Amino acid sequence: MTDRTDITEFNQNLLRFLDTSPTPFHAVESMRFRLDEQGFQFLDEKEAWGKLAAGRYYVTRNDSSILAFTLPDVDLAVTGFHMVGTHTDSPCLQVKPRPEKVSHTLWQLGVEVYGGALLNPWFDRDLSMAGRVSYLDSHQQIQHTLIDFKKAIATIPSLAIHLDRDVNQSRSINPQTQLPPILMQLAKGETKDFRDLLLEQVKQQQPSCDIAKVLDYEISLYDTQGAAVIGLKDDFISSARLDNLLSCYVGLNALVKTTGNEPSLLICTDHEEVGSMSTSGAQGSLLESVLMRLCPDIESHHRMIQRSIMISVDNAHAIHPNFADRHDAEHGPKLNYGLVIKSNANQRYATNSETSAFFRQLCEQLDVPVQDFVVRSDMACGSTIGPLTAAALGVRTLDIGVPTFGMHSIRELAGSQDAYMLDKALTQFFR
Ligand code: ZN
Repeated sequence: MTDRTDITEFNQNLLRFLDTSPTPFHAVESMRFRLDEQGFQFLDEKEAWGKLAAGRYYVTRNDSSILAFTLPDVDLAVTGFHMVGTHTDSPCLQVKPRPEKVSHTLWQLGVEVYGGALLNPWFDRDLSMAGRVSYLDSHQQIQHTLIDFKKAIATIPSLAIHLDRDVNQSRSINPQTQLPPILMQLAKGETKDFRDLLLEQVKQQQPSCDIAKVLDYEISLYDTQGAAVIGLKDDFISSARLDNLLSCYVGLNALVKTTGNEPSLLICTDHEEVGSMSTSGAQGSLLESVLMRLCPDIESHHRMIQRSIMISVDNAHAIHPNFADRHDAEHGPKLNYGLVIKSNANQRYATNSETSAFFRQLCEQLDVPVQDFVVRSDMACGSTIGPLTAAALGVRTLDIGVPTFGMHSIRELAGSQDAYMLDKALTQFFR
């Protein structure tokens, strides 16, 4: 067992990251803050980079995806990159463009479901809102800023059991009619405008902000209950967005610890939960475009790719004691029993025997236990950014992650030892 105080401190920092990152925009902002602090230099995709000197750099796209790397003075065609890929987004409820609804004196917001969210856990929570606001300033220029209400301002109450006696046998949810959260009670004839609410909040949050009018926004709801270490013996981490901010945090932590003597790269993209098809998603051009600029000679570029390896890190399904039949008995990962190598004969995961052997050996050298996951042969398999990146770039890839319960719930559960174990493995990988 590893040092208990180290793990406690490590987990406290992880919890803080989870709490300060209610949306992909905020996750990227938190990561930028850490990278700036550690001397990484921001590169603007719109500017000329020229030939970069050896150093530590990062790039963002759409404020919701981020790519950071260390560049030593080496021939990339000979070394390749050691890369880690994760995603910044999580399933949630997103506020619609014209969200205002008034019903039976209550002000509600129309919401869209983002990604494959488990909807039942969204009821009876103390919800807040956060995201990005695009506005006009007093010079008629469009600007963008992040916003976070931070306190509980909304809720979706359950319907009482007395009004739906069969609810515990069959509960299905209509996202159009049954999910609009309630924000406040209105006086007779009173109306509310969501953009005005955002305007007020920006002014309150940033008194010096020159904001004249809110044009558009990407705002989602989140649970105000903070991330926590729980269990009689502190065995678990309970939080929203463990999938996949846990991996983002650990990837970043491992990257900033590198000496910079090896080319190392971390990419955290948005929109994984909806298929990654966007400018900032894993099917977008961010990774390819940065690698092309770092190594523009076509022959060297392809040699660099073939010498690189990517670890796609995303959470794995732990075997749930109450639903153990949903797993193949030989492939049921347990919390706190090691990192999970995910494989799938139909290539829903990018792992092959070459890349998994590499990772198994790396973990063995560190005394980090490894578990295996394949989905039951009679069930469909999920996927990750792994196969997308492997196919688009032709880079050797494997899929791993920490075991998790309740994936895509508003509150997920992981083992309290697992993020620390992942950190050990990724730190070694970057060395
Ligand atoms: Zn995920």
